[in-house]
Amino acid sequence: MTRHMPMEETDHILARAESFIKEKVLPIDNDLVSMTWDKASIVLEGLRDEVRSLGLWAPQMHTEYGGLGLTHEQHGRLSGILGMSPAGHYIFNCQAPDAGNMEILHEFGTEKQKSTYLLPLVKGQIRSCFSMTEPGNAGSNPLMMDTVAVREGDEWVISGHKWFTSSADGAMFAIVMAVTDPENPNPYKRASQIIVPADTPGFQLVRNIPVMGEAGGGYFSHAEIRYDRCRVPYENILGGEGEGFAIAQSRLGPGRIHHCMRWLGICERAFDMMCSYAVQRMMSPGKPLAEKQAIQIWIAELRAEINAARMLVLDAARKIDQKGQEQARVEISIIKFYVANVLQKTLDRAIQVHGALGVTDDIILGWWYRHERAARIYDGPDETHKVRVAKEILKKYTKHSGHG
Ligand SMILES: Cc1cc2nc3c(=O)[nH]c(=O)nc-3n(C[C@H](O)[C@H](O)[C@H](O)COP(=O)(O)OP(=O)(O)OC[C@H]3O[C@@H](n4cnc5c(N)ncnc54)[C@H](O)[C@@H]3O)c2cc1C
Repeated sequence: MTRHMPMEETDHILARAESFIKEKVLPIDNDLVSMTWDKASIVLEGLRDEVRSLGLWAPQMHTEYGGLGLTHEQHGRLSGILGMSPAGHYIFNCQAPDAGNMEILHEFGTEKQKSTYLLPLVKGQIRSCFSMTEPGNAGSNPLMMDTVAVREGDEWVISGHKWFTSSADGAMFAIVMAVTDPENPNPYKRASQIIVPADTPGFQLVRNIPVMGEAGGGYFSHAEIRYDRCRVPYENILGGEGEGFAIAQSRLGPGRIHHCMRWLGICERAFDMMCSYAVQRMMSPGKPLAEKQAIQIWIAELRAEINAARMLVLDAARKIDQKGQEQARVEISIIKFYVANVLQKTLDRAIQVHGALGVTDDIILGWWYRHERAARIYDGPDETHKVRVAKEILKKYTKHSGHG
């Protein structure tokens, strides 16, 4: 159950989270992302323990499951703070894809699924992944899917080829989208979501896919997976048969708010680094880079765009809290493409201001530049969101023109 939290209590949580991130995480995160996952996870576990003892664990999760029960708007504000570090959300146990999986297991899971998968996820004892996109089909049109789950007695037999299953390396289970009723006249009722433990015979993690030169490992990776006649109990279906798309939709709205606020955290850190560097980098004796008007214009423009992006995201979060995500569809699409582009521009300019230093791994900007280019692609590319927004706007005009 989500409780109503007074404003002062939220502010207190945000202030404590911010101090923790600034004091304990930012000073080491550039080292963390260059370690192997085996080493990084040990450091991260220590930080996670500290967050647990501060009472800030799993802020997005419902209180009866040991979370803080924040609303989307409150969690959005917190996400902006955690996003200042690539490890922030993981350390607080509200990272994608686990947070989305927790949400759908909470909403659609049976009691057995909750005790087997949700509880250990909330406690941070296991990790999970979400396996929908396929190399052979356009992810922008998820109705095109070749992965199938065929019922044989009390089991599902799952066969298919997925990729970009983020964080599958070391995950205890995958939630897999598979076609279960190919003949259903309603194409949105053809697929289901099924929980597949990673130790199921036939679950083959082919590789961690190199992204912009880095394959990463563990939580920081994206896997290609083959499901070769994986047999799981029938009861591993999440929700009902044919509910796959409806469940995916319910996960995506809040998920996009979380991504956008995380991106704003990145923007704030990059902006801060850019301004700090501009005032200390001397272009001639006593003349810092910050005195150049070109840089001042970038600073002013970015400040305006980041502020605008924040307001759009909080507006969308508020609308989800008050009216539900169906009513907030347009706002969610607007922030998805708008904030991803502000993020890309901010990182690019922050790198430019740092000159050669900007493209080294001595500072964190390069890591984000490589890893967040994908922000304009995952959870729906820019174009699909723009088309959705435009179509919604045009409906009104078509009706009035008499052609609708
Ligand atoms: C880093 C990263 C992490 C990911 N994590 C996951 C995950 O955990 N689980 C998972 O299942 N998937 C994941 N994905 C996959 C992601 O959701 C898909 O990449 C996305 O849905 C786009 O699908 P696609 O790559 O097949 O591109 P396609 O659908 O083939 O589209 C290609 C390009 O076509 C253009 N385009 C698409 N539609 C239109 C249109 N209507 N008009 C004009 N142009 C258009 C866009 O520019 C798009 O980039 C991840 C992807 C990345 C990059």
